[in-house]
Amino acid sequence: MFGVILGTGVGGGIVVNGRLLQGPNAITGEWGHNPLPWPAVISGIDERPGPKCYCGREGCIETFLSGPGLAGDHERATRRTMDAAEIIKRASAHHGDAKATLDRYEGRLARALASVINLLDPDVIVLGGGLSSIERLYQSVPELWQTWVFSDRADTLLKRNEHGPASGVRGAAWLWQVNEITG
Ligand SMILES: [Zn+2]
Repeated sequence: MFGVILGTGVGGGIVVNGRLLQGPNAITGEWGHNPLPWPAVISGIDERPGPKCYCGREGCIETFLSGPGLAGDHERATRRTMDAAEIIKRASAHHGDAKATLDRYEGRLARALASVINLLDPDVIVLGGGLSSIERLYQSVPELWQTWVFSDRADTLLKRNEHGPASGVRGAAWLWQVNEITG
């Protein structure tokens, strides 16, 4: 499975047969600072080169898919400043501009996850972090990623985490415990 955090930042992790994959650079699944795949002009705004990222590059996935990334996109499109929570609230109340921002967000999330599916072909992708509470993602994103996944049909499941907003902390605590026990 590929676990994704969509929150203040964007991160990921890969679990195979119940074990977290780790590599020599301790960055397995660190996908937020790869470039947004298949960039295009969306709603009249070019995704290239994309917003500046704190890592020094431009157009990282995180600059589009984090909470501040969502708010920044809304501001570029509407010239109005509001945080991600407000945009999500307005979108569910059918405000047109906020819905359009979430449409762009879903399209980008679908592209970013399609590139993960092409590489890993996980059984399931689990979303965590504050933005994982956006209910419509679980319906729309698997429809949208069909365009970008290389196979004729993508059956990958997209699921919401089962342990709520603190799942990341829970996971960290669990790993700490495992490390303590196994040395
Ligand atoms: Zn970056």
